[in-house]
Amino acid sequence: MNNNDNKNKKNNFFNQNPLLLFIIFAIGIIILFRSIAPSAMNEMNSVSQDQRISYTYSDIKNLAKEGKLAYVAIGKDIVKVKFKDGQVFSLSRVPNDPTLVEALNKYKVPYGGLNENNWFNDLIFGWIIPIFIFFAIWMFLASRMQKGMGGVLGIGSAKGLIKSEKPDVSFDDVAGNDEAKEEVKEIVDFLKNPERYLELGAKIPKGVLLVGPPGTGKTLLAKAVAGEASVPFFAVSGSSFIEMFVGVGAARVRDLFNQAKKEAPSIIFIDEIDAIGKSRAAAGQMGGNDEREQTLNQLLAEMDGFDSKEPIIVLAATNRPEVLDAALLRPGRFDRQVLVDKPDFKGRVQILKVHIKKIKAAKNVSLEDIARMTAGLAGADLANIINEAALLAGRKNKKEVTQEDFVEAVERQIAGLEKKSRRLNEKDKKIVAYHESGHAVIGETTDGARKVKKVSIVPRGLAALGYTLNLPEEDKYLMQKHELIAEVDTLLGGRASEEVFIKEISTGASNDLERATDIIKGMVSMYGMTDVAGLMVLEKQSNAFLGGYNQSKDYSEKTQEAMDEFVKNFLNERYEAVKAKLRKYSQVIEQMVKELYEKEVIQGDRVRELIKAYDEGKLEEILGIKNGENNENGTDS
Ligand code: ADP
Ligand code: ZN
Repeated sequence: MNNNDNKNKKNNFFNQNPLLLFIIFAIGIIILFRSIAPSAMNEMNSVSQDQRISYTYSDIKNLAKEGKLAYVAIGKDIVKVKFKDGQVFSLSRVPNDPTLVEALNKYKVPYGGLNENNWFNDLIFGWIIPIFIFFAIWMFLASRMQKGMGGVLGIGSAKGLIKSEKPDVSFDDVAGNDEAKEEVKEIVDFLKNPERYLELGAKIPKGVLLVGPPGTGKTLLAKAVAGEASVPFFAVSGSSFIEMFVGVGAARVRDLFNQAKKEAPSIIFIDEIDAIGKSRAAAGQMGGNDEREQTLNQLLAEMDGFDSKEPIIVLAATNRPEVLDAALLRPGRFDRQVLVDKPDFKGRVQILKVHIKKIKAAKNVSLEDIARMTAGLAGADLANIINEAALLAGRKNKKEVTQEDFVEAVERQIAGLEKKSRRLNEKDKKIVAYHESGHAVIGETTDGARKVKKVSIVPRGLAALGYTLNLPEEDKYLMQKHELIAEVDTLLGGRASEEVFIKEISTGASNDLERATDIIKGMVSMYGMTDVAGLMVLEKQSNAFLGGYNQSKDYSEKTQEAMDEFVKNFLNERYEAVKAKLRKYSQVIEQMVKELYEKEVIQGDRVRELIKAYDEGKLEEILGIKNGENNENGTDS
């Protein structure tokens, strides 16, 4: 860092409010120090000069009376005493006591004033040390703040605090999400040819909110806008504005906009804008946050401040638009919203295509297959999968990445990393094997349920002991009633299987039961699929998706009771049906458990094969069991 930068940074710092805080802080330290310093220094004097004779203040008068004193020097806080034999001692922090002078007069001891102001000590203790401490603290805080900005404070930049970049990203790098791309394309044109719009008297939009779940490419899209328009791109994260000190965030917002104006036309990208833009009403409950409020106000002021003739466009990303302060969304601010959603099947294929270019993949890799397996994943997950597959292939010393590696990478991404080290003990293994087989058989034999891809009792990640991978054939946006019920049945299959075959239930089904309950509640309260509330909607969709079920109910106690009763009965009814079905397919389950014990994993095709064979009465045949043996088995169990 050169001098110039230093000056720049200081200048900037001095301009801002935090300085006020520091000055107050510094004065505080100085006052504090000055109040202890004189006594500290006198204490030191007394050790060196007193030859370690200890007297107290009350002794002085006695010593005067005894005629032992040659001279007494009286200061404001300190008294120095010289004996006739030449010894000296001093006392600090003496009381303000007029009777001492009287006593000295009485016993004719000469006395005088004492000038405590030792300028040298005073300078050191009163000023230099406190100022030094103050600067040390200041430097420490300043350096911490820079780190807090995550490198956004351009340490190496001579221009100022916030550095811009010129991203080398184009719309081609952003795959899928064509609608979002279409909407932001307009912005590129504004930035490239502002005159065209200004001449017509049009106002260029100032703020665009990119709304979507994490990893869907909001940052990427913003960069692509800057890249396509080839304008400077300023990226900051909302959370980096929120600092310990009130006023710092606002100052940073100011710097950011100043810098962007200097380099206009330009793009400002604010990630996680909800960190500063949370609605004031919502934040109030948590004991208002001055810093955030000031930062938000500054942001609003800046957005109102720049002329719509200045081609600066602020793109902000959030996945929770509903928590944003209404003031942010007003016309002239973030009045446009672009939805950046998780990709559908086609989108996933396109994203995979973009990322697979970066690695050496085998020619026969089917992106369609990978896309089919990854419904519900975001672009960042897909990028991860491609990279993970390349790493897996590398570990196996392969020359190119094959389909097998991709499938394994998908499984890892979906179910967490395989924990080879974590083995199930025999008892748990049995429970998990029956549990997962139950899910799988119900899934495969219920109309409208999702097909089983694979059943596994290899523990993955921390939470899942085993899993049944059910994947829809295609992306689904709508669920019919019978499909919801099929999902409930499939979820109940795990626990029902434990009860039917192990005759005892475990804790392993709590998540299944929770999800099943939620689905039925949804049928009652959101989708109007039952008689309990008829078509009356009790829960708004947004609430139910965001934070589970709404706390503030706007329906009667009686409705609540009816709903609870319905959910309970419905679950029981489904549970009985599921158990009956599992009993019917007990031979299939037993065979699956056997195979799971051997191989830990069964593919969906094998499950279907077993079920089909059973339905056609050929199970024994394909398992190679002789009729006689089987009969024995049958009577045994
Ligand atoms: P967000 O800002 O929405 O959280 P990012 O833009 O940071 O997501 O996405 C992270 C990474 O995921 C990107 O750098 C890119 O590699 C990949 N990615 C996400 N969405 C897409 C997409 N639509 N096309 C290509 N790559 C994507
Ligand atoms: Zn389960």
